[in-house]
Amino acid sequence: MAISTTPIDEGAIRDLRREVRGPVLRPGDAGYEESRTVYNAMIDRRPAVVVRPTGAADVMRAVAFARDHDLLLAIKGAGHNVAGNAVCDDGLVIDLALLNGVRVDPEARTVRVGAGARLGDVDHETAPFGLVAPAGVVSDTGVAGLTLGGGFGYLCRKYGLTIDNLRSVDVVTADAELVHASESENPDLFWGVRGGGGNFGVVTSFEFELHELSTVLAGLIVYHADDAPEVVRNWWRIAEQAPDELSIWLNFSTAPPEPFIPAAYHGERIVSVIPVYAGDLETGRELLAPLREFGEPIADTVKEWRFVEWQQAFDESYPSGERYYWKSHNFRAPSDEALDRIVEYAVSPPTPETRVSVTHLGGAVNRVDPTATAYPHRDADFLVNITTRWSDLALDEACIGWTRDYFDALAPFATGGSYVNLISEREGEESMAYGPNYDRLVELKNTWDPENRFRMNQNVAPTG
Ligand SMILES: Cc1cc2nc3c(=O)[nH]c(=O)nc-3n(C[C@H](O)[C@H](O)[C@H](O)COP(=O)(O)OP(=O)(O)OC[C@H]3O[C@@H](n4cnc5c(N)ncnc54)[C@H](O)[C@@H]3O)c2cc1C
Repeated sequence: MAISTTPIDEGAIRDLRREVRGPVLRPGDAGYEESRTVYNAMIDRRPAVVVRPTGAADVMRAVAFARDHDLLLAIKGAGHNVAGNAVCDDGLVIDLALLNGVRVDPEARTVRVGAGARLGDVDHETAPFGLVAPAGVVSDTGVAGLTLGGGFGYLCRKYGLTIDNLRSVDVVTADAELVHASESENPDLFWGVRGGGGNFGVVTSFEFELHELSTVLAGLIVYHADDAPEVVRNWWRIAEQAPDELSIWLNFSTAPPEPFIPAAYHGERIVSVIPVYAGDLETGRELLAPLREFGEPIADTVKEWRFVEWQQAFDESYPSGERYYWKSHNFRAPSDEALDRIVEYAVSPPTPETRVSVTHLGGAVNRVDPTATAYPHRDADFLVNITTRWSDLALDEACIGWTRDYFDALAPFATGGSYVNLISEREGEESMAYGPNYDRLVELKNTWDPENRFRMNQNVAPTG
């Protein structure tokens, strides 16, 4: 499909403004800068026009406008994806920020979420009912992008991925039509949106199942990086046996000057063991005891948390507006050599702000067949996400190079799968992300988007 680079006729923009309810923004308009800005400061793109829909009708009109004018089309949820595909140069961006309504049905235990909502918007609405929708761990992450890629968080071992709790979606297709997709309606499309990214249309709303949960036992047990090889071995020994209610993540970082860390360790490289127990609290305390008997932690903040508050505990650790380059690998039953390799790089990053996060998977995630949804990685025990961060442009090459070296060094020990939501750029990593489901995704793309209108994503190229 040819993409037009000719300037858009002002008359056409006037018509578009008349036809949609939400703002239509051009460079220089108030709100344009906000709409073109995403989480990762490496991304600096200037769309020709931005539409901020107030409902599905506006989305339909915007998709039709992009088609009729052969404009490159990008869809922005919350713009958190490090690859920056939420925005494009020259084309049309549909910024879903205004579609952020959340409606809980406590009787049915479901929630309907607008595609511009962030995780914190959902937690805020469900918490008063003692209910949760399983999602990610930083509250300003977009629900849309996270869900379309799979979605894991502290509850995934107990309740599955975010997509495993998805009941239905409304989608504006490449033909600018609104369709509903669920297990019983357009089931092929419903299969594809559960892990296939934004390849098949603009999802305007999501319906999720909710679960009862108000309080968790959670916190950080912090060790100096010198102890990391032993800490990581001990972590895996316990994590491997953990029941579904218990997730134990790891986070390598640089000790902040916070009161909970003794001053002597401020600025030192540390590894935090992060247990989150979502079940009977007495049982949880017993299960967490072995974690606390190990070595000499320099801090231990484990306590009872309201889940909605724990969901914001890491918000300040991942600020937007910094330069980021991320990559991830999945792992299964790691050898000591694999654990050592993870530690080797994690304790010697190119910048102090760089973090390495180890996400505990397994449990309910892996009890779903790998072909039941488009997300294929149902065999991974954990995922390592290299979250390299810096602010000085002069460090771009060094930071990107270090991340790639680390990624390559882990490859021999990893499953060969990679999480679609944590890919920084297109580098042929789609096959790692979609794995054995790729061919079926291509068939679906041929059906729902044969002209590849939705291509600003980890793209599944149509062959039709
Ligand atoms: C600080 C931070 C923490 C994170 N933590 C987690 C975590 O705990 N668990 C986890 O699973 N992931 C996590 N992620 C990764 C996260 O899932 C992705 O960054 C995700 O893409 C963010 O969603 P978004 O809506 O903000 O994305 P955007 O950047 O807005 O969009 C991402 C992609 O999805 C497409 N898209 C967005 N909305 C739609 C839509 N409505 N219809 C069709 N296509 C759409 C876009 O075109 C783009 O290709 C985290 C990311 C960050 C930055």
